Amino acid sequence: MLEQIKGLHHVTSLASGARVNNRFFTDALGLRRVKKTVNFDAPEVYHLYYGDGTGAPGTVMTYFPFPGSAPAPRGAGEVGSTAFAVPRGSSGAWADRLASRGVGNVARETAFGETRLGFDGPDGERFALVEADDDRPPWTGGGVSGDMAIRGFHSATMRLNDRGATAELLKFMGYEEVDSDGGLTRFQIPDGGAARVIDIETLPDAPPAGQGAGSVHHIAFAVENRDAQLEVRKALMDTGHQVTPVIDRDYFWAIYFRAPGGVLFEVATNEPGFDRDEDSAHLGEELKLPSQHAHLREHLERSLEPIE
Ligand code: ZN
Repeated sequence: MLEQIKGLHHVTSLASGARVNNRFFTDALGLRRVKKTVNFDAPEVYHLYYGDGTGAPGTVMTYFPFPGSAPAPRGAGEVGSTAFAVPRGSSGAWADRLASRGVGNVARETAFGETRLGFDGPDGERFALVEADDDRPPWTGGGVSGDMAIRGFHSATMRLNDRGATAELLKFMGYEEVDSDGGLTRFQIPDGGAARVIDIETLPDAPPAGQGAGSVHHIAFAVENRDAQLEVRKALMDTGHQVTPVIDRDYFWAIYFRAPGGVLFEVATNEPGFDRDEDSAHLGEELKLPSQHAHLREHLERSLEPIE
């Protein structure tokens, strides 16, 4: 069993429009946009990162907005819901805030005895705010006060036809099965960080999920550094997983592999972080391009949808 993985690093999803996406995460949810760059594999498309004040691992929701892309059918083999931790007693204020911004399908949910407020993102993707004891410092520059602001990820919920093989993989990655509630099974890294929970919702008869606006593209798990990442990569390869080479994503190093239930997993390093090319007081303000796409700047600044 691996001991290098500390919990979630980031969650990356697809969107139909950059402006609406940016407004939702920075205004309605009050997160900080910590990076405005492009998809390194498709530079005509933004890669937008939203998190806490520094974009700490375990706080960062990221998006590839493909303008006008259609939503995909929901189903099995995907991340069905991403949850953020908020302070105890704050979900009533959050319900009011989300309602005032026209957020869809805001509803109290119950699972594992937690106080949980579910809601839809701009492309119908499902999120939740979970009341939790979480001492991570919040970003309060987005107009959400410290007594309710998001602390970072609480968990992500995968929807699978059969949890067996993915449960075994999570255990190999260092997670323990700690609880179950209805069709949900909870996994947790014993000494992980605050974003150490993964839930699996077992839906034996659900059709396979498609991929489109609102779909989670992949979830990334955090390791401290590149040495730990290479250890994880070798261990996964030794147990038969097809893992990509290490890829430089400028703000972290990444490896990817497909989990048996269909969800794309990434393992990302906590180094070097989002302040490597931008002053921490001005994170996410300028369009940052990786060196291989720097020559496209003039074209991209004209063609990418303007965001605030
Ligand atoms: Zn990623």
